[in-house]
Amino acid sequence: MICLILSEENFEYDVRGLLTAFYPGEEICASVRNGQEGKLEPGSAGRILSVDYMDGKIRVSLEHGEKKAAEAAVDYEDRKETKSVLKRLVYGLLSADAGRELPWGTLTGIRPTKIPMALLEEGADETEIVSYMKENYLASEEKIRLSIEIAKREKQVLKDVDYEDGYSLYIGIPFCPTTCLYCSFTSYPVAKWEPRMDEYLDALFREIDYTKEAFSHKKLNTVYIGGGTPTTLSPRHLERLLSKVEESFSLDNLQEWTVEAGRPDSVTRDKLRTLRRHPVSRISINPQTMRQETLKIIGRHHTPEQIEEAFAMAREEGFDNINMDLIMGLPEEGPEDVQYTMERLYAMAPDNITVHSLAVKRAARLNIMKEQYAHLKFENTGEMMGLAAEYCERLGLEPYYLYRQKNMAGNFENVGYASPGKAGIYNILIMEEKQTIMALGAGSTTKAVFPGGRIERCDNVKDIDQYLGRIDEMIDRKRKLLS
Ligand code: SF4
Repeated sequence: MICLILSEENFEYDVRGLLTAFYPGEEICASVRNGQEGKLEPGSAGRILSVDYMDGKIRVSLEHGEKKAAEAAVDYEDRKETKSVLKRLVYGLLSADAGRELPWGTLTGIRPTKIPMALLEEGADETEIVSYMKENYLASEEKIRLSIEIAKREKQVLKDVDYEDGYSLYIGIPFCPTTCLYCSFTSYPVAKWEPRMDEYLDALFREIDYTKEAFSHKKLNTVYIGGGTPTTLSPRHLERLLSKVEESFSLDNLQEWTVEAGRPDSVTRDKLRTLRRHPVSRISINPQTMRQETLKIIGRHHTPEQIEEAFAMAREEGFDNINMDLIMGLPEEGPEDVQYTMERLYAMAPDNITVHSLAVKRAARLNIMKEQYAHLKFENTGEMMGLAAEYCERLGLEPYYLYRQKNMAGNFENVGYASPGKAGIYNILIMEEKQTIMALGAGSTTKAVFPGGRIERCDNVKDIDQYLGRIDEMIDRKRKLLS
């Protein structure tokens, strides 16, 4: 256990983020002294990290066997800079104690590309951005260069999208064949909900009708049908949904329509043909790994061969922009398993590959039942991330979007790679928060971007019964958000 003691309740979240990054899985107990000097009992903590906000300076100390301390002057009026100084002080002590650096330095947010993007927009060149990010965030040169490369590519893609005058649409289909071990998304067993699927679609259609009316003056730039697994819908339900979208909106400005066909065991020729009858331009068939043993451990009841069959069928049906999601750091996998997976992906040659680092969230079965899985080895390394990147490069795919999550294995990132001209536009729009994304369906979150860059969100309830019963309220929440 690590004990975090702060003299005041300030920046606890940020310090915790660094502790979790250096010591993943360790319990952290935090307390605020608020002037009660000497009353705190760190008990059996292996490490004690203290943060003292003093007159004009911050002092940080770490007790772990011996005690080490560092301090720096700050101007508390400048909150952003104070946070930055504090994080560098904490980082210095923790990296000396842990004997390692973090690839992203003190950056714990989910959108590191926003920093180079803003600097590029201000006219900074690459050398200036590298030294700024090294100095301020102690990030590695490799990660800084990756974030700059991606920011440049994002700019390139966005220059052809009239995003300021447009919006995007997300439709959530929260059903899957089984639940993956690491899943923290809204996902329910399709077998249970199949008899009520028309009811779910009826509720979605109410939200579609509202969106059509609310955005009649805006251009629809991208549509993303995700989940869950949208291809768990039967061909008839899929047809109902796609027809409704096509009839409801003008698609004159539509630049991309993605449907996740995530689980290969949900893909059939009939469904692919249904997608092709509508202007769906991009699909996603997600292996996560090509190792049969790992697929079993993570609760996916399909074989690697089914992935190849679904992919081949999608090509035969004419899909020329197929994404495949992978996860690095899955249980019992090491570099040789990543290499094996990448070889099989290389043979398929998808147009997009999205490489994720396993992030175990609170709601995941893997976390809730952690004792049951304690015997499994989880590891993600620079070598594994590097192997995935190398194969993407060999396939001619370029990194085009990047984001990070809390509790990521190895403290790395998720990177989307795409062949030129096939980058997922929706992914960039959502990452860079450039426009409103209307999100429909149980468990989805709408993000409204207002002039001047102010961002506000509203959620739909996750529970399907609640969603169906409270659909008027979900629409009302959106109405309020947009007004
Ligand atoms: S396919 Fe995705 S949404 Fe479905 S259970 Fe697995 S992780 Fe969750």
